[in-house]
Amino acid sequence: MSIKQRLLVFFAIVICIGGLTTFGLVKRATEAQFRTFVFSGDAEKAKVYSGILGEYYAEHSGWEGLQSFLSEMPAFVFSKLDEKIKGEKSFSATSVYGYQAISALLSDRIAVADSGGRIVADTSGKLLGTTHPPMHLAQGVPIMSDFKRIGTVLVGSMVDSTFTGTNELFLGQLVRSLTIAILVSTAIATLFGLALSIQITRPLAILDDAAKKIAGGDFSAIVPVSGRDEVASLSSSFNTMSGELRRLDEAKRRIIADSAHELRTPVTLIRGSLEGMIDGVFPLDLDTIRSVYDETMRLSRLIDMLRELELIDSGELKLTLDDIAVRPSLEKASSLFRAQATEKDIEIEERGADGLMVSVDVLRFDEVLYNLIGNAIKYSPRGGRIVLAAQREGDLALVRVDDSGSGIPLAERERVFERFYRMDKSRAQDSGGRGLGLSIAYEIVKAHGGRIRIEDSPLGGASFVVTLPLA
Ligand code: ADP
Repeated sequence: MSIKQRLLVFFAIVICIGGLTTFGLVKRATEAQFRTFVFSGDAEKAKVYSGILGEYYAEHSGWEGLQSFLSEMPAFVFSKLDEKIKGEKSFSATSVYGYQAISALLSDRIAVADSGGRIVADTSGKLLGTTHPPMHLAQGVPIMSDFKRIGTVLVGSMVDSTFTGTNELFLGQLVRSLTIAILVSTAIATLFGLALSIQITRPLAILDDAAKKIAGGDFSAIVPVSGRDEVASLSSSFNTMSGELRRLDEAKRRIIADSAHELRTPVTLIRGSLEGMIDGVFPLDLDTIRSVYDETMRLSRLIDMLRELELIDSGELKLTLDDIAVRPSLEKASSLFRAQATEKDIEIEERGADGLMVSVDVLRFDEVLYNLIGNAIKYSPRGGRIVLAAQREGDLALVRVDDSGSGIPLAERERVFERFYRMDKSRAQDSGGRGLGLSIAYEIVKAHGGRIRIEDSPLGGASFVVTLPLA
């Protein structure tokens, strides 16, 4: 069953329960009120009848002939009234209302019991001759004559609790009006329920379509966001998700294309050299073989970097954190690169960092340092300077690699961390760059909960600043 159907069934059940309960309660309360009203009316009438009946008793010295008197009384009174109305020159409203009031009065059921509780007269004739217990007679009004109770008169609801005549008509009409009101409100409530269920389920249907598109590999799917309710929040999260998927998909495509491109160069070189050697164009000597070997080394380095990025992207990069002192790491890194630096007549110096401890994965931290120092040497001219420094700043450790190279313009400072991005392609290519080192360093620092940024170096070149959590 769809949500729309379930909502509709739910609404229908709630509306029916509400309608029936209202109907039952209102009907019961109205009937009870009406009964009290009718009963008090009947009690009033009974008082009037008791006077008349007392006189009848005195006049006839008993109840003889009361039954026929009561049965004939309406016809007798009506004939008198008719005569009176016909005698009037014109019908006045009062006379017509009076006529109606009297006819209503005379349509009452009247039962009279003698002092022993025996019914001596009943306008319906049903109870005539039966004897009634004092409990029932207590509801009626006593008939007195010569200060003596000579009987009891019961009118309308005192004799029979079921509604009759105009009362029944009135109640019937009330129930009909109530039924119509409840049916109309039920219909309106159902319409509102239908509109609400459509309003709730329509965005879900749109989301469903969009999700199916995404499942089919179409990441361009976007859903409209309207309002500020839960569905709007879901739609907006969906759009964020599809946007992120789109971005990842584009990045994946770009990486595949760039990787293929980067791999092609060394492979082409290796193949060309080997073909040249096979064809006898290149001499089969140690130098040629070494150049081929160098290319395979670059190729395997590139493959290692791609593998590392894949580990980072898939979240499989596991860090083994240790508390280490920064200074020895800086010294080790500078001694490792000293030979390479000396070749270019570059001086490497370490500063500060005394007693500074960080919580890092040592191998990954060294990798970041080597990458930054390697770049600093690569992009510095002969006779340059490199300074490795570290200091504490708040609850962070700041590690800096400054060089006296060409520096990195402001506009490029974000982009150099992108994969395969090289500022000066031919120059970087010459120096063996593939544009992956900084993006790997960036991800490693990020995985440690730190950041890496570029500033202007006081030495004139670039300054790479790495922030890391303190141990
Ligand atoms: P590459 O392997 O090309 O060096 P990286 O990701 O390490 O790749 O660096 C990306 C680009 O950033 C480099 O191609 C270079 O243009 C620039 N770059 C990196 N480090 C420096 C630096 N110390 N000085 C100047 N430019 C730099």
